Amino acid sequence: MYLNELKTGLTNISGIGSKRANLLKKIGVSTITDLLTHYPIRYEDRKDFTYFKDFHLNPKMAVKVIITGHSYISSHKGKILKVHIEDKHRYKAYLICFNRNFLEHSLKIGKTVNIYGKFEFKYGELQSSIFDYEPEFTPEEKSNFNKILPVYSTTEGLSNKIIREAISKTIETHLQYLNEEIPENIAKQLNLIDFTEAIKQMHFPDDFEKLELAKKTLIFHELFYLMLTAQYKKNKRISKSITTKTDKAEISTITKLTPSQEKIINSLNFELTEDQKKVLQEINSDLFSDKPMGRLLQGDVGSGKTIVALLAAVAMIDCKVQVAIMVPTELLASQHAETAYKVLKNTDITIALLTGSLKAEQQKETLKKLKDGTIDLVIGTHSLFQNKIEFKNLQFVIIDEQHKFGVNQRKELIQKSQNPNMLVMSATPIPRTLALTLFADLEISTIKQIPKNRKEIITYSAKIGNEKKVYDFIKKELEKGNQAYFVYPLIEDSEQLNLKSALTMAENLQEKIFPEYKIGLLHSKVETQAKKTLMDKFNQGEIDILVATSVVEVGIDNPNATCIVIEHSDRFGLSTLHQMRGRVGRGEKQSYTFLIFNPNLTADAKKRLKIMKESNDGFKIAEEDMKIRGAGEIAGERQSGNISLKVADLSSDGAALALAQKYASQIFSTPEKLQAPEYAQIKYIIEKCPYYSENLFFT
Ligand code: ADP
Ligand code: MG
Repeated sequence: MYLNELKTGLTNISGIGSKRANLLKKIGVSTITDLLTHYPIRYEDRKDFTYFKDFHLNPKMAVKVIITGHSYISSHKGKILKVHIEDKHRYKAYLICFNRNFLEHSLKIGKTVNIYGKFEFKYGELQSSIFDYEPEFTPEEKSNFNKILPVYSTTEGLSNKIIREAISKTIETHLQYLNEEIPENIAKQLNLIDFTEAIKQMHFPDDFEKLELAKKTLIFHELFYLMLTAQYKKNKRISKSITTKTDKAEISTITKLTPSQEKIINSLNFELTEDQKKVLQEINSDLFSDKPMGRLLQGDVGSGKTIVALLAAVAMIDCKVQVAIMVPTELLASQHAETAYKVLKNTDITIALLTGSLKAEQQKETLKKLKDGTIDLVIGTHSLFQNKIEFKNLQFVIIDEQHKFGVNQRKELIQKSQNPNMLVMSATPIPRTLALTLFADLEISTIKQIPKNRKEIITYSAKIGNEKKVYDFIKKELEKGNQAYFVYPLIEDSEQLNLKSALTMAENLQEKIFPEYKIGLLHSKVETQAKKTLMDKFNQGEIDILVATSVVEVGIDNPNATCIVIEHSDRFGLSTLHQMRGRVGRGEKQSYTFLIFNPNLTADAKKRLKIMKESNDGFKIAEEDMKIRGAGEIAGERQSGNISLKVADLSSDGAALALAQKYASQIFSTPEKLQAPEYAQIKYIIEKCPYYSENLFFT
């Protein structure tokens, strides 16, 4: 039996009826597997009794005491029981029983009890109001003393005692059937303990050393199977490949870039950065291998991913196959199409734009040409992958701003194109550990350099009330002929939220602050055509200031815009802030970001603003973001499936993850090994009882 096969419900465990089972369900525990992996959130060290004189060593103490008296404190809510206690050395302390006056019946004068509590010095005496007790001679199996006590997350009506008992029983009855292990040689090399022993020690540790070992074992186990599952999926995708690559002989002569790529690169009015060249070569070598590409291209906003994608497309189109670029918004689709027309104008590549707002006739025409193969490169939104669309020979799919797409959209797309070459791009870099897990089935290319004509963006912050200074600064920039963005968290004023909105502020800025300049308003409710016109005007300098909501986050590219003012910046997440900042600094001019904030900041908001001021590096910002919000939160937002890691923590277990990846890829690098009997278990586990949601990985 393997851990994930223990799918029986909990009512089979003695002591758990349907009521308790329902409560457990509330905390995400519905099967034996869930229960065994409902690990403690913390532990109380009750192994040894201490004495009050040692209070200064650790205020959380387990003490054997005798009850010497009762008194009452009067308060405005009535009287509160105060129990007088003494330890063996006759050191006095007091238990303050808020809302627990009934304890006078069980904590009777003259009785000896075991107390565990957090003590503090107050009013010249040692007191505890958060404490737990039991009679002195409680039988060992029922006692919460002389041991390290696990504490679990729970819900109302479900005591830790019930959870502890349920887990303890389950360990007794079920653990013996588990024969899941990490391959022996690996366990030995890493000094891990038995898997079942680790589960037991995790819940009821003999001592803290064993607990550490148990944690280490379970963390590795979890990450190891995660990495194995990823490798397995990756291999499966590759082996299903239908790709008929072009003539190999011809390809083998291509060392780095194809002739048409070279030609286009030479026609650009800028030089590619070293990083752009490097990733393009990585992509090329995938495209011309006999396996379908699965690659994530990460690069900060403005690092120049679009041109890399177009050049990659060219290489495939030369091989007489079709390429599709999928983007999350119509605006971005038409921008990319424009870029493509420009960049590819001296080629005979046929380009088409396909979006939902195309007129029926145009759409029909485009669909026909996709089917007969006239169109080589199509750029569109997810409408590209509606059922009625047929391609003649689609073999390369590029997904831009991949985090904006849901898991299902990705699935549809992958099915549609029968395992093509796939390049997914993301402008919000994610931390290394997260990339290794979420995209473990993809190769990763990274652009770290930004084009060298750029200057570092300068970021200032200003408290609400000091906007005037900021506006004055912007005025000076506008006088130089530069342009600016103003961003607000709301489209319109809201009765519930006392925040500035884009609509109101657009009027306000126009009438009161910048009457001599042209202001445009952009938000998600503006119709596509109007949006497009607005963007064109802004790009051509007919509009000086673009007032917007966070829709500017994605894709707008105007190198003449040098300022972005983000009002209520404390309300935006770190990656959104960084993305928005990426709207400026796209040309050679010095650019500025102004973060206007409400001084009444939460601790997290304070951290976010501090990081924004300190760093322009998307990768560093992503790491910090993960520290603030946790890996799960970030993964969820990116719609990358839920990371259901139970023990491992991606923000602190990077080293274990690297090890797990190393061992997992060793196993998969020699597939014949997988046939060996000692690997039968691994194969079974990753195929039949995957630990992680089907949706976890990209493909
Ligand atoms: P992103 O990586 O955010 O998608 P884009 O591909 O939109 O960035 O590129 C941002 C801008 O930088 C575009 O105007 C593009 O033409 C320009 N650009 C791309 N590569 C370079 C380069 N090597 N040197 C100068 N400008 C570049
Ligand atoms: Mg982009």
